[in-house]
Amino acid sequence: MSHINPFTNAMQQFVQAVAVLSQSGRKVSKKEIKLFKEKIELMRFPKRIINVSVPVRMDDGSLKIFEGYRVQYDNTRGPYKGGIRFHPAVNLDEVKALSFWMTMKCAVANLPLGGGKGGVIVNPKELSESELEQLSRGYASAIANVIGPDIDVPAPDVNTNGKIMGWMVDEFIKVKSQKSKVRISKTEREKLKATFTGKLIADGGSEGREEATGLGGLYVLQAVIKRMQSPKKQLTAAIQGFGNVGYNAARFLFDSGIKVIAVSDSKGGIYVPDGINPEMTLACKKKNGMLSGCYCSGSVCDVSKGKPISNEELLLLDVDILVPAALENVINKDNAGKIKARIILEMANGPTTAEADIALHDKGIIVVPDILANSGGVTVSAFEWEQNLRGLHWTKKEVNRRLFDKMNEATENVWNASRSFKTDLRTGAFIVAILRLI
Ligand code: NAD
Repeated sequence: MSHINPFTNAMQQFVQAVAVLSQSGRKVSKKEIKLFKEKIELMRFPKRIINVSVPVRMDDGSLKIFEGYRVQYDNTRGPYKGGIRFHPAVNLDEVKALSFWMTMKCAVANLPLGGGKGGVIVNPKELSESELEQLSRGYASAIANVIGPDIDVPAPDVNTNGKIMGWMVDEFIKVKSQKSKVRISKTEREKLKATFTGKLIADGGSEGREEATGLGGLYVLQAVIKRMQSPKKQLTAAIQGFGNVGYNAARFLFDSGIKVIAVSDSKGGIYVPDGINPEMTLACKKKNGMLSGCYCSGSVCDVSKGKPISNEELLLLDVDILVPAALENVINKDNAGKIKARIILEMANGPTTAEADIALHDKGIIVVPDILANSGGVTVSAFEWEQNLRGLHWTKKEVNRRLFDKMNEATENVWNASRSFKTDLRTGAFIVAILRLI
């Protein structure tokens, strides 16, 4: 992966959108210009950065300290909102960038939420279950004073999931109960659950949250394709990343009739020209412990049906839709000129560098930006938050209907902004967000 500072990348995208907005010839007074400039300047800095160190008693009896962050970027529109990442490459600039993108994303999706993000420097795959639980509980306890349903609402991200959110919310409520002088009532406890989203249903999670990012991505993709007025034919896709987002994106694209010919994870990928069967591929990966060899197409997994492919090769495949669904900066100046896809659906956060964006634009490739494409996850997180606060539980049908409406509304707004400001979809999305934030 290219070593580009994600926060620098995020700021380049922001500056580009501000420049297009400033040159748009909107009639504004001198006072408004001054105010605009000041607000824009403020948006270049997070409101608060919290550094934490989390001690974990390892299974061998030793004590290991893990460093982490919570960045609370902006709460103009509501409580800070954003996931928690467990990964060895976590660093402060990455968490700052991710929290900035969350601010923009929540504004694009028109949610009453701001932007935040958390991360711990750790390879969770090297931890036992008990060490992972201690780390999760320790992190929740370390940030307990600065989060809450009206303050900051974390969620899962890379290498965290519903089970981890369950440990965190339980620990958070414990800390709050210990600090409270009066007994916390059952109703208050239920409301406190709104502090974390992406929980398992049994812990107060929402129907449809786990797959929401993938399903939202499909809804956005369909709304974009409808506007592109392309000739009708079976579309092909390649997906990098086969975790929560990548797998669910593969599943929903497959269900919608798109042929997914390649998928990958951190260890490499598979190329199956007849199109993979996502569910069988996942079952095979779980059984074998890796994607390699899982050439599952139709109703069989058969070695003769495909071949191994590297992550770099996957990005350069001749497909209609390329879906980066893993980490940042994978599409950069080194490979952007060689990409053959017509549409890039950014399901990961920050997969494309600013330099690559220019090259892709010059080639006429449509980039559906992360702050729109993967906003389905935070949208259903917002539904979960609302359900917890109001003591409701919506059916999956209801959740998905609301998600469909939100994704279509957001895509329409971004598309229209990109047309009226004569710019690409990313800049259009930033403009929609900025106008809602200033
Ligand atoms: P995950 O941990 O469930 O899965 C990550 C996947 O990426 C795994 O398959 C992993 O093997 C793969 N991966 C890791 N390093 C890789 C590499 N160097 N090359 C190729 N693949 C690699 O995480 P996730 O929740 O699916 O998140 C993926 C991306 O989507 C992240 O950018 C995340 O910020 C973003 N995102 C997640 C959500 C959500 O709801 N989970 C919402 C919006 C955006």
